[in-house]
Amino acid sequence: MLIVQKFGGTSVGDLDRIQNVANRVSETKKAGHDVVIVVSAMSGETNKLVRYAEHFSPNPSKAEMDMLLSSGERVTASLLSIALNEMGHIACAMTGRKAGIVTDTAHTKARIENINPKIMKSAIKDGKIIVVAGFQGVNENGDVTTLGRGGSDLSAVAIAGALKADLCEIYTDVSGIYTTDPRIEPKAKKLNKISYDEMLELASLGAKVLQNRSVELAKKLNVNLVTRTSFSHEEGTLITKEENIMEKPLVSGIALDKNQARISLVGVKDRPGIASDIFTKLSNSDVNIDMIIQNKAHDGTTNIDFTVPTNEINDAKAVVDTFVESGDISADSYNDKICKVSVVGVGMKSHSGVAARAFSTMAEENININMISTSEIKISMVIDEKYAELAVRSLHNAYELDK
Ligand code: ADP
Ligand code: ASP
Ligand code: MG
Repeated sequence: MLIVQKFGGTSVGDLDRIQNVANRVSETKKAGHDVVIVVSAMSGETNKLVRYAEHFSPNPSKAEMDMLLSSGERVTASLLSIALNEMGHIACAMTGRKAGIVTDTAHTKARIENINPKIMKSAIKDGKIIVVAGFQGVNENGDVTTLGRGGSDLSAVAIAGALKADLCEIYTDVSGIYTTDPRIEPKAKKLNKISYDEMLELASLGAKVLQNRSVELAKKLNVNLVTRTSFSHEEGTLITKEENIMEKPLVSGIALDKNQARISLVGVKDRPGIASDIFTKLSNSDVNIDMIIQNKAHDGTTNIDFTVPTNEINDAKAVVDTFVESGDISADSYNDKICKVSVVGVGMKSHSGVAARAFSTMAEENININMISTSEIKISMVIDEKYAELAVRSLHNAYELDK
């Protein structure tokens, strides 16, 4: 078999853990498999580099950030390769560029455009263990790019797809996908299987155990994806097609996203095209809008509220300011002390009352809901950040996910 194994930050968090990873990789290789390894930076390293940059500038160039942040993964890739060679294997570390990962030019959140697997394929043919630095690629100008936070998951899935690997294993610090973050609710249950669509919702709604774009790509390329822990040999969770799952629970999981901010625009001129003007400009500035609420005010203007990822507030504010200056908006305010809790499950498609239960659970806990959005398989609510953990635990209990 050809297996792609990705090891996250905690799994390579110190030198002993890198040795532990080398031992595991060695086991897989000795069992007769071809392996391609993808690694993250040591845990905390990427955040440390972000802080270093912020020491010099509140708004550093995104291209320079990519040069900086991509270095963390190169450190672990080379250390792991050195450890494997010392154990008698023939290993070689590769940057994203050498692995043939070509992206667009959107620095700090680049999309993979294609992978040229030629160099990787010839190394595999020579019996080598390839260790790829995750989270990075190269754009058409030859500049290094990064794939967004958590992007090593995407590197692994994309490489598994390009090499037509039999399996892509994501090794992390929990033993699989749980009904909710086990660090918030210790009663959370590990799932044996979950569908691509449910996993994509959970990941997009804040469950950072897998980066959402990696799940999207795994679904598209039909990659066999397994999440498991690098600290034991316990079986993990298979992420697979919905038809491969016999038992379809009503609700599969609860997700929490604290990385959300609410932007309120007051006194917005009520004319056709205004929403289009504002949101087109935001999108041109690469701001990702999530929920939107619009209300008519008494004076004939409207109020528009929407949510964005916290780290995009500055970019959003720059756009909003231009409308405030032109008089199209009379006031704006920003609140990053909010969070989004979501209930996810394919079973909701065919059942009613799931949303009502979520709302009454919040009511019983006296938690005010600020915004709501729903789709076929999810219900999301924006609430004050101070209630985040309480809301997750209450919902987990209300849908009996610990049973
Ligand atoms: P890595 O560094 O290996 O990429 P991450 O920190 O990105 O690991 O993701 C693993 C973390 O995801 C876990 O430690 C856990 O706290 C969190 N998490 C959130 N939601 C879930 C969930 N539903 N199931 C499992 N882990 C979850
Ligand atoms: N090191 C990067 C991050 O912390 C990428 C990753 O770990 O997947 O976001
Ligand atoms: Mg991660």
